[in-house]
Amino acid sequence: WKHAPPDLRAVLESSAQHGGTPALVYGDEHLSHSAYFRTAATLAHRLTDQYGVSKGDRVAIAMRNYPEWVVTFFAAVSIGAIVVPLNSWWSAEELRFGLTDSEAALLVADEERLRSLSADLPELGVPAIAVRSGAQLPRGARSWEEVVGEVTGDVGLPPAELAPDDPAAIFYTSGTTGVPKGALSSHRNMISNIVSGQYGRARSLMRLGLDLPDLLEYMAALPTQVILCVLPLFHTTGAQTVMLPTLANGGTLVLMYKWDTDEALRLIERERVTAITAVPAMISQMLASPRLDDHDLSSLLTLASGGAPAAPDLVSRARNHLTDVLLGQGYGLTECSATATVNGASDYVLRPESAGAPVATVDIVVVDPGGAELPAGEVGEILIRGPGVMLGYWRRPDATAEAFSGAWLRTGDLGYLDQEGFLYIVDRAKDVIIRGGENIYCAEVEAAVHEHPAVADVAVLGVPHEVFGEEVGAVVRFWEGQHVPPEELLSHLRSRIAPFKLPEHIRSTAEELPRNAAGKLMKKQLKEQQGWSSAPPDTSG
Ligand code: ATP
Repeated sequence: WKHAPPDLRAVLESSAQHGGTPALVYGDEHLSHSAYFRTAATLAHRLTDQYGVSKGDRVAIAMRNYPEWVVTFFAAVSIGAIVVPLNSWWSAEELRFGLTDSEAALLVADEERLRSLSADLPELGVPAIAVRSGAQLPRGARSWEEVVGEVTGDVGLPPAELAPDDPAAIFYTSGTTGVPKGALSSHRNMISNIVSGQYGRARSLMRLGLDLPDLLEYMAALPTQVILCVLPLFHTTGAQTVMLPTLANGGTLVLMYKWDTDEALRLIERERVTAITAVPAMISQMLASPRLDDHDLSSLLTLASGGAPAAPDLVSRARNHLTDVLLGQGYGLTECSATATVNGASDYVLRPESAGAPVATVDIVVVDPGGAELPAGEVGEILIRGPGVMLGYWRRPDATAEAFSGAWLRTGDLGYLDQEGFLYIVDRAKDVIIRGGENIYCAEVEAAVHEHPAVADVAVLGVPHEVFGEEVGAVVRFWEGQHVPPEELLSHLRSRIAPFKLPEHIRSTAEELPRNAAGKLMKKQLKEQQGWSSAPPDTSG
């Protein structure tokens, strides 16, 4: 890649050239690219001199989306350390798991995470740097201010020898299907997002009908990207799709502590935000907000979703409200460094059900259970190959061996490619409902339920059944004041899906469906909430 930085240290160094442009915005705090570079370089020296962090050591980060998250990430990877982003939604026990599993040499954490870990820190023997914490620090912790000290004007990075295939981070998977696994990513893995992002943007614009000279002119005139960072940075999409390309291209990251629809609308207007990458549920909430039209959103150029299936009507709802915004959705996994496919611009409007075509750096095939490649239209397991695919799972050789078929990453997702190479995801293999030997793809039933205009959100789940093994259950949240009875929903579904796929159990809820920080439905939790975890008595007669 001629025009891409060779490693993440070079990404940080490039920030020094963007001078006064804001790199990080958090509340009223604005940190320019040069100030952010100097702070990260200073911290890199402290990590080396005061904590003895050296190449290959693990530095864990456990905090909300504070500017210090970004500074710590780049300081640590620039000296060859491996960053371990820990999920800030995790309990103390899960945080302990992350620290011990990764054998972290240092923890950089905010007050809430430190408080939940304080009793364990001495026992774990991990020194900590406390970010935005009060005076009462747990034993073994020092404050960020004390450690970083004075940031001087001419500081450079300490020396380090880096190669593109050196490990740079351990991102834990969401744990949707079991215990989170640490995906070990190299510098090259992560930088592939910068390359694919640039190609993807150009391709989306070309699909709008621009020819090459127009495209170049259009792209040159685009304002520097100001992206609203609504996704948690500890998740691969937040760090790799949002943070990395934005900073590498001299753009601005507007950080949100947590998702809040009203605050997001205010920030778009105040910071003249040009792009948002979110999970589908956030975009849906934004479009449903009664305050959407009270704000000037004219700066917004792109709105993308990913990480979880998007309701097929999301694109038309977005187009009704945000007519000039380029819409997109993407599909990917922690194990392939975020984005594998993108569906953008006119493609997305024409094929709202598709997760898109592979990005420029990725190959995709669909295979049968024996590993043979399937033709277009046939459902099988999705395999991914490309420079974003992880080095392997951290210290889990068995899981790594299972995850690969040669150079291909086995995603555990089922789907098919159409004749033009667009990918359609039908389900996670582990979520497929098997009712009396028939496979039922939750995503298909969910999409059909979603087509009813009264439906705001839906989760389709397997309900244990003594005779059939499983039956189909649906938990539906309706838009306020639009509740419809199960019989009406079923008659809507009868014209859309085969009778054996119709939900036998329909429950409605007024609550938001439980989703994790990555926007994924927590189906295991939902099953427990609904009492669908164990087999009910056989009532089939
Ligand atoms: P674990 O492996 O621990 O269960 P996880 O797979 O949920 O965790 P992630 O890497 O965060 O962890 O999620 C990747 C999964 O998210 C994909 O395998 C896929 O099932 C789902 N996904 C991501 N993007 C999309 C999309 N656009 N449409 C449908 N599903 C998606």
